[in-house]
Amino acid sequence: MGRLVRCVKCDAIFLKTPYDQVPEYGGDVPNQGRNVHALERDDYGDFLKNHHGHRLEDLTIVEDSLVGEREYAEPVNVSYFKATNGKERFVIKRHRERIDDPLRYELIHGDYSLNCVAVDVQSREISQNLERVLRGRPALAQKIHAFIKLYQQVSRQVDLTRRKRVAEGSDHSLEVYYRIDEVSLVYLLRNCRTLFEPEEFPEVEAFIYRHKDDGVLLMKATYEIQVKERVRSAEETSPASFRLKKASCGEKV
Ligand SMILES: [Zn+2]
Repeated sequence: MGRLVRCVKCDAIFLKTPYDQVPEYGGDVPNQGRNVHALERDDYGDFLKNHHGHRLEDLTIVEDSLVGEREYAEPVNVSYFKATNGKERFVIKRHRERIDDPLRYELIHGDYSLNCVAVDVQSREISQNLERVLRGRPALAQKIHAFIKLYQQVSRQVDLTRRKRVAEGSDHSLEVYYRIDEVSLVYLLRNCRTLFEPEEFPEVEAFIYRHKDDGVLLMKATYEIQVKERVRSAEETSPASFRLKKASCGEKV
């Protein structure tokens, strides 16, 4: 991603990328470039100027820690990644208000965790697929409805911390797909025997095996980012003024 630099005094950060010094083109666009001039950009130079005389340190970005509130490709997104200076952990919040705004980075002392807020089954897709499999069977709508209810019940009993997530398939970091486990699969099949007619069951069974690993029977878990800011002592937040206060108290005694 680039080099992440923190000003220890101000807690400001700068992500140094190869694009920092790319000139920005300004001017009158309809004139086909005649008045266009390159504006020299040196964002890192500006950062160094603003924090002249302050202690700077490099932060290491924790690999694979980038999570976004929306899809990865969304240009206007709030995302977070983890970084450390070797002693302390930080969360870096990256965001912008509008598509043409520059990305802003904000440093938070602490960590984030992902909490599962919902587990869903892909009801609409299951319904469409089962309908094709059992076309023409009596009371089909009720059977499909009952199957989805049953599968929702199965999904609620699944312990996601012990499930294997499907690596591919989602371009949203907060939506994760999981496969049904063997125990739940046996339970599902057993209940389908009573839900469907004996002549329908083999087709339903084949449907389940076809879709359990990468098809419409994947369960979708939705996560929420919870940022936990570490409460810092007064000494950490402003060491200079804290020492000053202590000294003046000492003089009075
Ligand atoms: Zn500074």
